[in-house]
Amino acid sequence: MKSLKAQNHPLSDSRYELDLLESPETGIPFSEKLAESGLFPLKPTQIEILQLNLGKMCNQVCKHCHVDAGPDRKEIMNKETMMKCLEVLRQQDINTIDLTGGAPEMNPEFRWLVEEIRKIKPQAKIIVRCNLTIILANPKFYDLPEFFKKHKIEVVSSLPYFTAMKTDAQRGDGVFEKSIKVLKMLNEVGYGLENSGLTLNLVYNPAGAFLPGDQEG
Ligand code: SF4
Repeated sequence: MKSLKAQNHPLSDSRYELDLLESPETGIPFSEKLAESGLFPLKPTQIEILQLNLGKMCNQVCKHCHVDAGPDRKEIMNKETMMKCLEVLRQQDINTIDLTGGAPEMNPEFRWLVEEIRKIKPQAKIIVRCNLTIILANPKFYDLPEFFKKHKIEVVSSLPYFTAMKTDAQRGDGVFEKSIKVLKMLNEVGYGLENSGLTLNLVYNPAGAFLPGDQEG
């Protein structure tokens, strides 16, 4: 499967997406919904989280992907931009850094960036949005669980369903099986185990315009 951009789909253009959100033809315009909640226009408040999207490159092409990532996307954050982000981190009282993508680990500067963040903020929460399968995608990623552990990274991963059929339909053939293998690798170094101090969060992504089910379930 190809990304929307590779398919020349109009939804790969953010301008088109924004126009769609504002169009009365698709329901109540987004700005009116914000106004209803007393939130229009949106204003910046204090920065709590610095979320860095390290690029659109990914080893998967999921149906629900909101950044249209995939193996055919080559746009990634370069080191120069990362250095500017680190400068922001030095200057601001930010205690959560959230690394996302694409598969953020595919950015060749990913490990360097994590190490630099740790030097600046030894106690900060660093989150990596890991799609799990990236760890098995290439031998150079096999040691990522140890790397995550070493830097006390909180791992947030998608696992849309507890059966292979539904997960693979949303995230690609074989994703469920690989995800379970990687979850076991993460368990082996302590992730998901009580009192290990290593947090592993699994996230359910709805594959359509509906909300996820009850959290407890
Ligand atoms: S793994 Fe994440 S970034 Fe990659 S295609 Fe799926 S949702 Fe998008």
